[in-house]
Amino acid sequence: MANVAKQLDELVRFYCPGCKTHHHIQHGSDIGPNWGWNGSLDKPTFSPSVLVTYNGADAGQDGAPPAVCHSFVTDGRIQFLGDCSHQLAGQTVDLPPLEGV
Ligand SMILES: [Zn+2]
Repeated sequence: MANVAKQLDELVRFYCPGCKTHHHIQHGSDIGPNWGWNGSLDKPTFSPSVLVTYNGADAGQDGAPPAVCHSFVTDGRIQFLGDCSHQLAGQTVDLPPLEGV
């Protein structure tokens, strides 16, 4: 089963086990940030790193900053950097297979 799904021509998504949601990667030539992608759905590599900030469950409460997810995806594995605000910070895990792909 694939770890990455094509969303649109120039957009792919993967399921992030740290955020428990999908992240989207633009890899084409459109305006905006574009990532390098090795074209693999099973063992994807994106470059440079993927940095996502969003309003997580505890964001903004008691002055907390937005949630942060910062990772390198290499060969189907996701390496979470130390600045992630979720519990997988500092760990490297396999990307989970996507359902229904
Ligand atoms: Zn994430």
